[in-house]
Amino acid sequence: MNYQTDTVCIHGQGNREEIENTGTISFPIYQTAAYAHPGVGQSTGYDYNRVQNPTRKELERIMTDLEHGLHTVAFATGMAAVSAFMELFAPGDHVVATDDLYGGVIRQFRKVNEKNGMQFTYVDTSDIRAVEDAIEENTKLIYIESPTNPMMKVTDIRAVSEIAKRHRCLLAVDNTFLTPYFQNPLDLGADVVIHSATKYLEGHNDTLGGFLVTRSEEIADKIREMIKTTGACLAPFDAWLILRGIKTLSVRMEKHQENALAIAKWLAGQPKVRKVFYIGLENHPGYEITQKQCRGYGGMLTFHVDTQDTAYRVLERVKLIQFAESLGGTESLMTYPFTQTHADVPDEKRRANGIDERTLRMSVGIENVQDLIADLEQAFS
Ligand SMILES: *Cc1c(COP(=O)(O)O)cnc(C)c1O
Repeated sequence: MNYQTDTVCIHGQGNREEIENTGTISFPIYQTAAYAHPGVGQSTGYDYNRVQNPTRKELERIMTDLEHGLHTVAFATGMAAVSAFMELFAPGDHVVATDDLYGGVIRQFRKVNEKNGMQFTYVDTSDIRAVEDAIEENTKLIYIESPTNPMMKVTDIRAVSEIAKRHRCLLAVDNTFLTPYFQNPLDLGADVVIHSATKYLEGHNDTLGGFLVTRSEEIADKIREMIKTTGACLAPFDAWLILRGIKTLSVRMEKHQENALAIAKWLAGQPKVRKVFYIGLENHPGYEITQKQCRGYGGMLTFHVDTQDTAYRVLERVKLIQFAESLGGTESLMTYPFTQTHADVPDEKRRANGIDERTLRMSVGIENVQDLIADLEQAFS
């Protein structure tokens, strides 16, 4: 079968596993810790929930089809997916990573992987030469986000995948911001796609989850071994919430994008706004690559205002838009990367990446866009 993405969100490409023949439309939540064996040396295919659960398996099937992969492993959080994945590497291994990553991933690399003997070089991966120059003898992984958080820099994924192949290292892409609805990194040569399902996939700001998707059986087997060992598996109810969230991914992403584009254009005309970073604006440096590798721009934007005072005022005065971390849900949220999501990034590095006291990041929700603009207008005034 070859369904379009909006159909895949609801049904996947093939058939779901029918465990009981009740005809239930919504996939059941299998709320159990363990499964009885039919006999000695026999299994129903399910033994213990850390290893697999039917609801989680159904969600993994949908994700695999959405990302054009062959295997998906679902985790309790996005960070659990990242930390399990990093266990595939050994002390002495070197990683080239985007210099503007999600703050939690930088913390994972610094506080866990560096402590355990791995080495990291952070570069602006939107500069392909910089990626090539950072490769060492012992480089085993290139880890990127595109677009980046919060500065929305775009990396040419295919060009980086060619570098990875030439140097026999893996390429992992965090696809949280655009989701498989707008971007499929495996089609562009990535080996592994990582997601925080907490964001657009689940989409309602009410649970956490994470995914690792790949076409490699070897990687998938190692990751399954790792989740069985370290235990950060996704609970059945949370799997069901994400399964339900993904059903409306296509309509939500279209609306997030429509609203974000209108707000980006409105912001660009405001006297107190210095710069708007939205990959759907034609003057964005990554616009051309985005046209080539994505089907849309998503709902995330970042902007610089004139002063720290303005930034504080806007954060304190927005009413409909809430001052909160996280992103990708139906509700519009605004955050202050300088002291929130990127508080742990060394100051010099933060500033070099363009994150300072005047930087605001907005996750544009699916409210009425005129209401959102009116809220911004009164917050700026
Ligand atoms: C939120 C996020 C993560 C971490 O995911 P959690 O579900 O919060 O653990 C990783 N990468 C990106 C880009 C994110 O936005």
